Amino acid sequence: MTDELRRREQDPGHDGVVDPVAREGVPIHIEGRATDASKTQARRAQEVVFDVRGVTVSYAGVPAVRDIAFDVRAREITALIGPSGCGKSTMIRCLNRMNDLIPGATVEGEILYNGENLYGPRVDPVQVRKLIGMVFQKPNPFPKSIYDNIAFGPRVIGMKGDMDGVVERALKRAALWEEVKDRLKENAYRLSGGQQQRLCIARCLAVEPDVILMDEPCSALDPIATARIEDLMLELKDRYSIVIVTHNMQQAARVSDMTAVLMPEVRDGDQTIGHIVEYADTGKIFTNPDNKRTEEYVTGRVG
Ligand code: ADP
Repeated sequence: MTDELRRREQDPGHDGVVDPVAREGVPIHIEGRATDASKTQARRAQEVVFDVRGVTVSYAGVPAVRDIAFDVRAREITALIGPSGCGKSTMIRCLNRMNDLIPGATVEGEILYNGENLYGPRVDPVQVRKLIGMVFQKPNPFPKSIYDNIAFGPRVIGMKGDMDGVVERALKRAALWEEVKDRLKENAYRLSGGQQQRLCIARCLAVEPDVILMDEPCSALDPIATARIEDLMLELKDRYSIVIVTHNMQQAARVSDMTAVLMPEVRDGDQTIGHIVEYADTGKIFTNPDNKRTEEYVTGRVG
């Protein structure tokens, strides 16, 4: 059994829920969230959640991104930016093995998740997707009540205990509780777009993920709803590691700690392959980038 799962079993105080799935154990090592806050603070900068090394992803044998390398540190927000089609979504999908679900998609290279090969033969992709949650471009609530949207994941994985408490905590963490606490039985489709997106984030949080992946989470939202999601991301990073794909550069600059800039490279006529031209502190990317293409992109001269 992995350290994280063992810790969760021994500590039912992990939001008061013992996760029965944990008892089965999966061969993924997840660094526990230390209870000693000062120790956590001290280690924070060094903890690497994802170590992406030389990754090439192809669809039907045609490479879409090549030789991608970057790391994601714990409790930081890492942004992937770049023009449309350069492979940002492809890359973020690799981080929770969503590309496994696309026929003909192949991933070469290595992605270490807390030091273990995410694509190793003993790793269960279903368990991976529980620990590494994903929020999509367009809010996608289920056609169910607000309550059942949140309770769905915990029920599927067999969480026992106080489901009302699980739902309330997830909605509170997603900064939605106050707006919906008196209408939990209403259909989720009656919420606004921004509320639906926060519901989807709450749904993701309800199964106690380790990492949250967000693929253009605000692209369908108005500026006010976008600002709320950005504020929420900044709150959530106290507990979770977040990777965000965005083509909104101001958003990347506002919320992220590290930024990877992907650019398309033309190969074989009009076929393009995305690769990272620069990966650095977000402040550096936006004020003093090393790469000329990064500079042109972040200053709006290309892209
Ligand atoms: P971005 O997120 O930067 O817009 P994508 O990852 O969506 O880029 O796309 C990168 C390349 O991979 C594009 O050429 C796109 O056509 C291709 N691609 C993405 N998804 C698929 C898929 N499911 N099947 C085949 N090709 C795909």
